[in-house]
Parts: sequence; C-alpha cells; structure tokens
Amino acid sequence: MDIKKETIERMKNAKRGFALTGAGISAPSGIPTFRGKDGLWKDKDPRKLASQSGFRSDPDNVWQWYNERREMIKEKEPNRAHYSLTEIQKMIDNFAVITQNVDNLHQEAGTDNVIELHGNIFKNKCNNCGKSHGELKSDNPVECDKCGGLIRPDVVWFGEPLPEDELNKAWEYAKNSDIVFVIGTSAMVQPAASLPIISIEHGGYVVEINAERTVISEYVNDGYYGDVAEVLPELVESVS
Ligand code: NAD
Ligand code: ZN
Repeated sequence: MDIKKETIERMKNAKRGFALTGAGISAPSGIPTFRGKDGLWKDKDPRKLASQSGFRSDPDNVWQWYNERREMIKEKEPNRAHYSLTEIQKMIDNFAVITQNVDNLHQEAGTDNVIELHGNIFKNKCNNCGKSHGELKSDNPVECDKCGGLIRPDVVWFGEPLPEDELNKAWEYAKNSDIVFVIGTSAMVQPAASLPIISIEHGGYVVEINAERTVISEYVNDGYYGDVAEVLPELVESVS
C-alpha cells in the first residue's frame, strides 16, 4: 500500500496529535467487534446487559457476562497495530491514544497517555457512590465497603455519560492537533463521530484507517482501507 507523501510529511512535522481507536484495532488480536458479522453481541442483547436497568434487574447475570468477557480478553495480546501506535507516539512530542476500547491492549503494547473514553473492563466501581474498586475476583457482584452499594465493571453502559475528565482531554486534543489517526472505528457514536471533524475544522490533518469506508471517510484528508495490523506497520515504516 502506497502511503501518500503529504501524510508522511505531516507525520514528520507534527508536534501534537492523537489516534482515536475503536474495536477494529483489537479485531486482529481476536477480540470481536461490535457490529461485525461474528460480533460480540450477536446472541446477547447489549442493551439488557450493558445498561443500568439490566444491572438493576439482574446484577448476577450482568456481572457473569462481564466475567466471561474478562476471561476472553485476558487471553488476547496486542497486535502489530497496537505496537505501531507505540512507535508513532515516540515520533511525535505530544501524542495521545484516545480509545473506545475497554481491553487494555494499548497499555499492554507500551503506549503511554491512553485516554479511555469507555472505561476499562478489568476495573470496577461502586454503582452507587462511584468509589473505584480495581480488579476483583468474584462470581457475583460484591458490596462496596464505603456505602453498601453493588460493585460493577468500570465501563460506560448504554445511556450513561462518558467520563468528564477524559472527554475534556479528548476535545482538547481534537482542537489542537496537527495529525489525527482514526483507526478501526465505525465513527457512528459520539464523540468518535465528532472528534475528527472538529480536528479538520481546526486545521488538523486526519488520516482514517479502517477495513472499509465509514461515515466520516468523505471528510478525512487521507484514508487507507485494509487490515489495521498491516496498514499501521507500513505507515510507521514509510516515516522511519
Ligand atoms: P464498531 O464495532 O462499531 O466498529 C468497528 C470498526 O472496525 C468497523 O468500522 C470495521 O470496519 C473496523 N474493523 C474491523 N476489523 C478491522 C481490521 N482488522 N482492520 C481495520 N478495521 C477493522 O466499533 P466501535 O466504533 O469501536 O464501537 C463499538 C463499541 O463497543 C465501542 O464503544 C467499544 O467500547 C465497545 N467494544 C469494545 C471492544 C474492545 O475493547 N476491544 C470490542 C467490542 C466492542
Ligand atoms: Zn459505594
């Protein structure tokens, strides 16, 4: 795949940038995406499981579903796309990875400055007072030592707001970046749908990498459509 000259120049000259990643970057690691044919949610109703009302009506069921996903994800390893982002981060003074994933694979690949918009599946918090509870090994949700509320996975559920600090950091990067990569996200949910558009409006150069074209493809400056685990290493190689 030929990488555009301007993309290489923009990468070399960038002082500040970010990558926005979605489930597609972890697909080559064997973690199913949201909307794919063999997607994670295929025979489960995510709105029932990953929601406040689902947890209230059957906390054990929701907790056990997350336990299964944790077991599955724990076995998986970062792929070449995750490692490529670690390399790109070394090339640019200030570079964040803003992810919608909850799988911890960016951190495992050695990337710093990871902004998790949807939380982290290995962490937990109290569903009542919000106290952080870290990793927990239990077959059923346990009670918070501070307030007696039930402890739940520290991920963003359907209908819940995104964490404010992370969101603020993401807007900051969107408005002040020279280069932006939008990787493996269908960009259909907020803020993934707007962050790259805001960057373009502020003069950022946006490069999309996805298996297929998406709703933002017509707006981006450059796009590569193929497997992330192949395209990102090529991108790194063409700059070094
Ligand atoms: P999505 O499932 O809506 O979209 C995935 C995108 O990745 C698609 O556009 C698809 O074309 C692309 N893709 C799939 N395989 C690819 C590959 N090998 N190379 C390049 N592109 C590829 O994902 P989303 O937009 O991130 O939204 C899903 C939501 O579900 C997220 O909010 C996330 O929190 C959650 N989720 C997380 C994980 C995870 O942590 N790994 C996995 C599934 C879902
Ligand atoms: Zn509590």
